[in-house]
Amino acid sequence: MGTPTFSPTQVPMSVQDDRLAIAILRQMDIAIIRRIDPWRYELFGEPPDGFTKFFRLDESSEEFWKRSEMLDFFMEDVEDYFAQGKTGGISSGVWHEVDSDLEEISFVAYALDLADEQLVVVRILGDEYQEKVRILQRARQNLLERHRLNVDLNMYKQRSRRDGLTGLFNRATFDDLLQQNMAISEKTGARFSLILIDIDDFKRINDTYGHVTGDMVLSGIGQLLQTILRREDAACRYGGEEFAILVQYANRNQVTNAAEKIRRQVEKYPFNLSPPISVSIGGGTYQLTETAESFINRVDSALYEAKRNGKNRVVVL
Ligand code: GH3
Ligand code: MG
Ligand code: MG
Repeated sequence: MGTPTFSPTQVPMSVQDDRLAIAILRQMDIAIIRRIDPWRYELFGEPPDGFTKFFRLDESSEEFWKRSEMLDFFMEDVEDYFAQGKTGGISSGVWHEVDSDLEEISFVAYALDLADEQLVVVRILGDEYQEKVRILQRARQNLLERHRLNVDLNMYKQRSRRDGLTGLFNRATFDDLLQQNMAISEKTGARFSLILIDIDDFKRINDTYGHVTGDMVLSGIGQLLQTILRREDAACRYGGEEFAILVQYANRNQVTNAAEKIRRQVEKYPFNLSPPISVSIGGGTYQLTETAESFINRVDSALYEAKRNGKNRVVVL
């Protein structure tokens, strides 16, 4: 009997166009999904039975992954893999999904970053694998627990640094950032400036329209600041209706322009209240060797002057 020989032939690369390949994949319980964009995937051909119970392709892509926590976790791994731009290789593992409305399922998955396609190959495992999978499942479960802890921790970290109403950094974060900026200034001589904003006649807004409307104005200004400021500027809710912004420049014209832009945008913002919402703004640049307190006091006196000069205006020292 002769030994079988195999000669290399051209294997069609486009799985989508090849019905035979799709039929074989189906037979082997393999599905291939293609990454179109981050978090967006599409399926090649008809998936094997069991696959659609798990990967619901009739849902929008976002809900799709949110279907189960494990699946979500898995997709984060896959996304991570592609984000790192790895060339070829394997990502992610095997697990056993237990969910009230899902059957138990195990699968192996490979994330393949080819030159012009990013594919995830998913193989649904049969019952005979279930026992073997259990060990890996436990390891995966532990990883998931750790992952969950990290997600919570990051969320709390984020939350405790921000103000709940406006989404801006809170006062404690402002104090930290100011100290950091001062330390950098003292080390490198790099200068930075502070802009203080106080809403004009805010008591009257509360008295006339109530606190709910007052809060809406505060969060509107928070949103506005987030959209108009540059990435390196730090916007904080400094007090009740006061905001502080640390900006990475020391030129008086630049500080004035930034402050004027904020003042004008607040004036134009469609709060639809009468009289319209306006802010007074003070600005100043950090002088090496001064304390945080004296710096803030100086800028606060500029703000005070803006108020005294008739409000809805900018004073930069
Ligand atoms: P001025 O133009 O001089 O700044 O007048 P003002 O009425 O704004 O005076 P001031 O800055 O002293 O007023 C602060 C007011 O802001 C008092 C308080 O009722 C209101 N306030 C502070 N924090 C909040 C908040 O979180 N929500 C609401 N709705 N109001 C707040
Ligand atoms: Mg005030
Ligand atoms: Mg005020």
